Amino acid sequence: NQAPVITIDGPSGAGKGTVSQLVAEKLGWQLLDSGALYRLLALAVSHHGMSVEDVDALKVLAEHLDIQFEQKGDEKVEIILEGEVVTQAIRTEFVGNQASMLAAIPEVREGLLLRQRAFAQMPGLVADGRDMGTIVFPEAPVKIFLTASPEERAQRRLLQLQEKGDEVDFEELVKTIKERDERDANRAVAPLVPAPGALVIDSTELTIEQVVDMILAEAAKAS
Ligand code: C5P
Repeated sequence: NQAPVITIDGPSGAGKGTVSQLVAEKLGWQLLDSGALYRLLALAVSHHGMSVEDVDALKVLAEHLDIQFEQKGDEKVEIILEGEVVTQAIRTEFVGNQASMLAAIPEVREGLLLRQRAFAQMPGLVADGRDMGTIVFPEAPVKIFLTASPEERAQRRLLQLQEKGDEVDFEELVKTIKERDERDANRAVAPLVPAPGALVIDSTELTIEQVVDMILAEAAKAS
């Protein structure tokens, strides 16, 4: 199938999730939150008490993991793992860290590859992640690399954490984000870099609406 794909890659905190969802809604296209797949796998690995050393078993699990994304009303999607609702459970820092560790294993990435490609259905797909434009959908007609300064991303994260009632130190957050950027950009498998031909958007000084409009304009040019 030749469904058009818009890839939106970038570091966490750049606004990819919100922007991807809005672009998908405006176009009436499918949405792939690829980070959620890594998070779901992380949760399943912990539920099953699997070893992260057993990379063959991890690959099989990645290929066959029982996942459902159920549309609940206009904007809400419920995420179901092996029959259990885990929409909130996959969003913790702990699961995020486990996901990031699994994401560095080549067999895990391979196991998830075809499942991600299967999301490309008519009338089109917005794919949100780290390697959507470089590896999963290298033929996508529209590729975006969405970023923002570490300070801005730390600020956004700080607000999120404060809303949840968590106390964190701003400087500490900036430091962690810079370290993670460094690691993500330099890892051996699927490093976080802009895909060739990607439009790089720095959202530091932009509103969500401005970013969405830039992406829709890019999509209109390509079609
Ligand atoms: O975006 P999110 O924080 O949900 O992703 C969780 C983790 O999964 C990231 O920290 C990253 O290590 C990994 N990931 C990835 N490739 C993707 C999406 C996510 O390596 N396409």
